[in-house]
Amino acid sequence: MTSKSQSTVWIKSPMAIFAENAEEGIVVQDEKILELVARGQKPKNQIDEVYDAGDSVLLPGLINTHHHFYQTLTRAYPEALNKELFPWLKSLYKVWANIQPEMIAVSTELALSELLLSGCTTASDHHYLFPSQLENAIDIQVDEAKKLGIRVVLTRGSMSLGEDDGGLPPQSVVQTKEQILSDSERLITTYHDSSQGSMTQIALAPCSPFSVTTDLMIETAELAEQYNVRLHTHLAETIDEENFCLEKFGLRTVDYLESVGWLSNRTWLAHGIHFNKEEIQKLGQAGVGICHCPTSNMMLASGICHSLELEDAGSTIGLGVDGSASNDGSNMIAELRQAMYLQRLRYGASKITHQKAYNWATKGSAALLGRSDIGEIAVGKQADLALFKLDEMRFSGSHDSLAALLLCGAQKADRVMIAGNWKVVDGRIIDQDASELMSRHSNAAKLLRQLSSV
Ligand SMILES: [Zn+2]
Repeated sequence: MTSKSQSTVWIKSPMAIFAENAEEGIVVQDEKILELVARGQKPKNQIDEVYDAGDSVLLPGLINTHHHFYQTLTRAYPEALNKELFPWLKSLYKVWANIQPEMIAVSTELALSELLLSGCTTASDHHYLFPSQLENAIDIQVDEAKKLGIRVVLTRGSMSLGEDDGGLPPQSVVQTKEQILSDSERLITTYHDSSQGSMTQIALAPCSPFSVTTDLMIETAELAEQYNVRLHTHLAETIDEENFCLEKFGLRTVDYLESVGWLSNRTWLAHGIHFNKEEIQKLGQAGVGICHCPTSNMMLASGICHSLELEDAGSTIGLGVDGSASNDGSNMIAELRQAMYLQRLRYGASKITHQKAYNWATKGSAALLGRSDIGEIAVGKQADLALFKLDEMRFSGSHDSLAALLLCGAQKADRVMIAGNWKVVDGRIIDQDASELMSRHSNAAKLLRQLSSV
């Protein structure tokens, strides 16, 4: 370890870089970025190693702020096809209730691997299923993320409002408020690391207005404040949800959010589609962040997020691939392309540039997770990087390399670095047997289907 300490790598002269004044690349020392090298310059620091990035586009590591890893087991699930959110959820809850601990392990490993290979260096997961056999689901996820060496913000999700009490999920997948709060506290005190460069963080994430009780929302916000952790939930994804809130609480979604003490800059919301003008102002003034999930929103025909109005009002926009039953892939670089194109339908081509999509997936996403140490290629930030080669037919004939990644539809990173360590080299995760992982994962998915059709 001593010999590695203080070693420097110059990632030299990329063909393009998403950073200012770094045309000749960057110098990484241990886990951080030490220096940016401007056009025509050489590094000022002593260099131990040079990586020639002349055939690569260099981006800050992409940050995914909403996912449900376990859903990789129910991709393109026959009974859930061609449905909108509520009927889609109802088709799947009873399947998900049969998930076993080893299925959480393999689905987490697969989803995180997919994300890594697409240039993602920090991933958040929203796990809200805790039937009796899955009480340690988040503990399992922590282990899997550590094995891969990817940075994670694992959110302790929850469901406490079952069908018997007017909620959407079946009783078999809901827990009591007491169980949820005590486990949330256990996970924070066991795993949450708030330090700069942290690899593992915990946030609290009751699932949605239609699956948790009002008391749980209120007390979760109090717990988050007590431990200074982030708050996350799904909100305003569909009109069905808005109608549910009006019927059950007599409130629209944002009024409900305010009534339970969640209108704060500690909160980031998945989707955030169906807001009126006043609600957008309210969210912006409170600094609530929004995770835009374009593919999922198109797949479930939920609607289009008002990203620019939300930004103008003061909210930060980040990106998420969402769960793999409503995407159905976990490809972060592909999601930027989807975000750029879906948002162009609302705002026109000139307002939604490729730079804007890169910003959402890096700086924007980092802010949603409350992180100032990642999301940017700048001196002192963590050395989380994604390098893409334009060596496939899809890129042939392209001129602006940074634009080409999104316009030509990049699918995979060539190299990925997290905290100064290469995790992906030549398009493969170091030390991973991808075929063996896919075989374990697809067997788990088949077993889940068998268990669910009994
Ligand atoms: Zn979701």
